[in-house]
Amino acid sequence: AGYGPDGVYRSPRPAAAIASDPELSLVDLVLRRAAACPDAPALVDAATGRVLTFGDLRSDVLSAAAALSSRAGVRRGDAVLILAPNCVLYPVCFLAVAALGAIPTTANPLYTEREIAKQAADARAKLVVTVAGLLPKVASLRLPTILLDGGGDGASRQPNVTLYSDLVAGVQETEYRRPPTRQGDTAALFYSSGTTGESKGVVLTHGNFIAAATMVTSDQEDNGEGHNVFLCFLPMFHIFGMSVITLGQLQRGNTIVVMSGFDMDAVLAAVERHRVTYLFSAPPVMVALAKHGSGGRYDLSSLRCIGSGAAPLGKEIMEAVAEKFPYAEIIQVRSIYTQQSLHASSFWLVILLLQGYGMTETSGIISLENLQKGRPRHSGSTGQLVTGVEAKIVDSETMEHLPPNQQGEICVRGPNIMKGYFNNVQATEFTIKQGWLHTGDLGYFDERGQLYVVDRLKELIKYKGFQIAPAELEGLLESHAEILEAIAIPCPDPEAGEVPIAYVVRSPKSSLSEVDVQKFIENQVAYYKRLRMVKFVDSIPKSPSGKKLRRELIAQLRLSKL
Ligand code: AMP
Repeated sequence: AGYGPDGVYRSPRPAAAIASDPELSLVDLVLRRAAACPDAPALVDAATGRVLTFGDLRSDVLSAAAALSSRAGVRRGDAVLILAPNCVLYPVCFLAVAALGAIPTTANPLYTEREIAKQAADARAKLVVTVAGLLPKVASLRLPTILLDGGGDGASRQPNVTLYSDLVAGVQETEYRRPPTRQGDTAALFYSSGTTGESKGVVLTHGNFIAAATMVTSDQEDNGEGHNVFLCFLPMFHIFGMSVITLGQLQRGNTIVVMSGFDMDAVLAAVERHRVTYLFSAPPVMVALAKHGSGGRYDLSSLRCIGSGAAPLGKEIMEAVAEKFPYAEIIQVRSIYTQQSLHASSFWLVILLLQGYGMTETSGIISLENLQKGRPRHSGSTGQLVTGVEAKIVDSETMEHLPPNQQGEICVRGPNIMKGYFNNVQATEFTIKQGWLHTGDLGYFDERGQLYVVDRLKELIKYKGFQIAPAELEGLLESHAEILEAIAIPCPDPEAGEVPIAYVVRSPKSSLSEVDVQKFIENQVAYYKRLRMVKFVDSIPKSPSGKKLRRELIAQLRLSKL
């Protein structure tokens, strides 16, 4: 199990050399592929087929960085808010900002104006990069804004708004001046509520991304895989889409086919058209795959692997997907490398289903099932620790380190662990203790070192892999003049995994209805954070120290749903 006498679980994977040059930046790591394979496709727009080669990626990133510096005044340490759906220019801008020692901070385009303003203020954003359709959501920030698309519709004529194409026009990559950068410098601020409270800036360094990139690709090296094509429809504002898929794979020379959103048919068509080998997804997509299958209408013979992360994936769904893809069981590991077209019926189509586990605070990765470690069991495990990551399973009462098959809080350590929460020493100290990141997840290792994530001890609600911080909903609810107290908890949902509901204590004479409360919240949050149910109660159960008994309420609700 990789379980040592010191109570630490170590990765059973071969050690991988993580680039250790202290002055290497994440941008250097990704762009150095341009020297090795300048003409290979780096980013492909699934809708238009437009290709950016690694050579183009390098020159676009460096000239965009030069333009952001000379024409938009972006300086080292400045935060730049990126609010956009996935597009080829998304990672270009992300890397261009990081190439200046400035800090990209990514936000969900579904956010309301209020949610965006909150993140922009917290991150101290100086500039916004967005698309024309989202301009109304950022107008009130009154920050200089760059539009990745648009033109001709008047948007670019608004004060403070510049088209990306105008910004970079005529700027050469040779104008770029690389600032001194060290691996310990901040590379980006992703937002996550962590184990408690509201969303916080997760400070990820160049070194964190470099480590994660090696961790998420080491199996491909060990298994002797060649060039891979990854489809990215998972949002790039989330750590999974940006770190595990986009940056991690680009630095290996893999191709990323970029999709702006998820649509089952479009995904399958893109797999066929671009000969996609890896489809990394999240549980809702697996549910869709389980229902839909491929319908036999698409040639999916290029696919080697369908992966799922970001939220728990049940064994049943994996089995259902395996059924829809008749050869989704591994028949013979060796056949992965000899598979031929689906049309040649004598060959197997081998697709492996695997699950991974990670979080924003670990640059997206902790554990992953390994393609080559024998027949996948679809056991519901999230696989073994990725190379370079160590873990402890800690009993939350006795703080004892637990051996295989005993459940406790998963704590992890490694070069992919965040530096801390931005401007929040207290939250950082609460989460990282003596170098160990407390994930707030409950789990155990089996005797083969497979990690099972069983439940969440932390407050977080996850709707299809999107974070909902109960503290945010509770803060909003309690800001209502007729609400004395409230608690928001996850309610199991077959499609979304979880949806938020709330228990609310009204003020004595209040006649607030459930719909009133739902409407009050609805106007202020992204749609997936809307309360599916509001129950009025006389009081919220609390511990003697006054802490809301969240887990008890969650347990009661689960019982009542059985
Ligand atoms: P985020 O920071 O948004 O990626 O959320 C991280 C959290 O998502 C983890 O701490 C887990 O609670 C949950 N999560 C991610 N992957 C899995 C998985 N494979 N199984 C169960 N929970 C997961």
